[in-house]
Amino acid sequence: MHIINEDGFTIHRFLAEQSGSNYNYIISCDETKECLVIDPFDVITIMQIIRENDFRVNYVVNTHTHPDHIHGNDPVIKVFLESKILVHEKGLDNVSPRSETIEDGDEISFGRHSIKVIHTPGHCPEHVTLKIGNYLFIGDTVFVSGCGNTRYGGDPEILYTTFANKIMGFDDNLKLLVGHRYAENNLKFALSIAPDNQAAKDKLKEVEKNGEKITTIGEEKTYNPFMRLDDPNIISGLKKNDPDMSDDPKSVFVKLRELRNSW
Ligand SMILES: [Zn+2]
Repeated sequence: MHIINEDGFTIHRFLAEQSGSNYNYIISCDETKECLVIDPFDVITIMQIIRENDFRVNYVVNTHTHPDHIHGNDPVIKVFLESKILVHEKGLDNVSPRSETIEDGDEISFGRHSIKVIHTPGHCPEHVTLKIGNYLFIGDTVFVSGCGNTRYGGDPEILYTTFANKIMGFDDNLKLLVGHRYAENNLKFALSIAPDNQAAKDKLKEVEKNGEKITTIGEEKTYNPFMRLDDPNIISGLKKNDPDMSDDPKSVFVKLRELRNSW
């Protein structure tokens, strides 16, 4: 369990044991004990945290509606009768009717705080990122050294546009609360394309020694291939696979995604 104490709010972060790779999050107001449950999978652990801390759930928020991100929705809202599920309208049909839609620019409140909704489609059409203070609950849009796949309703070109227009524009100091623990495989993939990237080598060593830690946008820019589309070593690495590939950033992104799918 990783507990992050911030100014007036607290984030509980843990890996859902049954899924193997999903991170679950609860963000709570220290003063009123109201909370948001984000992408619940491991309901037993979530309920334990809520009971021990005397939290009250305002909303279950889904970054997107893939089965492993909505798995624990209904058991949580059944216990908290006033609570609702919040999801982008493009995912509304996939969740219980006790839900409301959220869209880009909305603010979701819990106690004295609120969290901002940013639409980040590409992994799937309904994907949103949630921003509070220096934290981004980024779901399956960005992973440590990677990005979400686009095989289940996604589109690599739309994901590229989200990276170009939104992700790359975030402040370097923002911290990423990702949806899955994929750092090790992602770093090995990055090094298979650009073997000389020292930041990726160092990061892989750190992850192998200490496990996956929270990273920042700035840190990701040093080794995440999907955020280094003009890196000549990445472009030449990709051209070994496809000599005719165009080296505009969108083609580089789409090629990286394609190779990662089968890697
Ligand atoms: Zn997903």
